[in-house]
Amino acid sequence: MDLSLSDFVLFVVFGSCAAVLLCAVISRTLHARTESRSLAHRVVCRLCLHAFEDFTDLKVIHCPLCSALNEKGRSRRLG
Ligand SMILES: [Zn+2]
Repeated sequence: MDLSLSDFVLFVVFGSCAAVLLCAVISRTLHARTESRSLAHRVVCRLCLHAFEDFTDLKVIHCPLCSALNEKGRSRRLG
């Protein structure tokens, strides 16, 4: 294979661009997955707005700070 200098430079430039793009996509995907996983267990207290994580199957959780009752999955709804 006859590889000239310009071909080599082009190959290195495009190769590094592809590597950076690939790394960005992978890191973005991993970050989004981690965030959505942690958001699934996150509960924000409607009384004191304390955010905590709950891994139980209970629908009603006591806030560890003010011990108010919080319904899981409805913390974002206003009113
Ligand atoms: Zn609370």
